[in-house]
Amino acid sequence: MKDLTEESKDHQLTVALRIRPINDGEIEEGATITAHRVDDQIVVLMDPSEDPDDILRANRSREKTFMFDMAFDHSSTQEEVYVATTKNLIAGVVSGYNATVFAYGPTGAGKTYTMLGLDSEPGIYILTLNDLFKAIEAGSDNMDYNVSMSYLEIYNEMIRDLLNPASGYLDLREDSKGEIQIAGITEVSTNNAKEIMLLLTKGNKQRTQEPTAANNTSSRSHAVLQVTVKQKSRVKNITEEVRVGRLFMIDLAGTERASQTQNRGKRMKEGAHINRSLLALGNCINALSEKGGNRAQYVNYRDSKLTRLLKDSLGGNSRTVMIAHISPASTYFEESRTTLIYADRAKNIKTRVKRNLFNMSFHMVQYTNIIADLNKEIERL
Ligand code: ADP
Ligand code: MG
Repeated sequence: MKDLTEESKDHQLTVALRIRPINDGEIEEGATITAHRVDDQIVVLMDPSEDPDDILRANRSREKTFMFDMAFDHSSTQEEVYVATTKNLIAGVVSGYNATVFAYGPTGAGKTYTMLGLDSEPGIYILTLNDLFKAIEAGSDNMDYNVSMSYLEIYNEMIRDLLNPASGYLDLREDSKGEIQIAGITEVSTNNAKEIMLLLTKGNKQRTQEPTAANNTSSRSHAVLQVTVKQKSRVKNITEEVRVGRLFMIDLAGTERASQTQNRGKRMKEGAHINRSLLALGNCINALSEKGGNRAQYVNYRDSKLTRLLKDSLGGNSRTVMIAHISPASTYFEESRTTLIYADRAKNIKTRVKRNLFNMSFHMVQYTNIIADLNKEIERL
């Protein structure tokens, strides 16, 4: 099989910011609102410190304005967030481009709400899969499509199959084309949205949870939903192309630990408590954004499981959307500030996207068709 490139072009990483609603607990604690959405792109963060000297000492202004590709707040619906961030990636995935959407932010800021959502308020995972199946149904009659999904967790640099946790820890392997594959992961083919929601909800219950001070159950694991769309021509007797589009949808671990670590400017000696994947992701974002692109700067993707898996998404062949999450509550001010600064930096990242085409030889197509016909014969017997 020969690798072909098509339509290579630069693409900016899209950065969205979502501020969740303040909740009753925060209001009862006397929290005030520090993060405001000004319009559909601009967010203002107000320092809640009572004492103006505190702000002076920290050497920053009371108010800081950020601009993103899009900004959402308590008035934004799941559907609005989905349509603005992810919906327009689908056509690309169906025609052989890679895409990635990841939710970033501290624990409790609304990442899982955005990605998985609730039965009554489904999130990006399910809204995307629904539209993906619709796009395929409406697709060309001359094409055969195969959609499969897998759902995994990275916890303490170990990969677990959330659709089959009994399979233990899985390895990352590089295939002959240099693409990273997860050895032994369950790949489910289904186009039944209800069944998928059930699988994801069940899978999510398998995520490793731990209590923290911030939130009773917090997640230090990254959840990765991977959807693969393969298509090939049904027309016989021609040299056949296979297109493969991969879509990653990722609910990252809470960023609060990584930012605390960095604030102190040294590595905490907690060992397992350092989220290596998040730190590596931060380092990659820094390196990629520094020189305005991925060409000059050395980027160490090999430092963690997450960055190895996302190598293409961050610095290579993928359209990528980052949805950064913050709470508006003053109790979250520090986390909100570091999240906004990170998201702001990520805006500088450029990716280069190309369509994934594989050329199958004439003979191979013939054999594939013959085998398919034989299989049909067998079924009929
Ligand atoms: P994270 O995954 O970032 O730790 P969650 O998604 O679990 O945070 O959100 C924390 C809580 O806030 C949950 O109870 C969730 O349902 C609620 N929540 C988060 N975002 C929203 C939102 N946009 N609208 C309504 N409730 C939200
Ligand atoms: Mg979560």
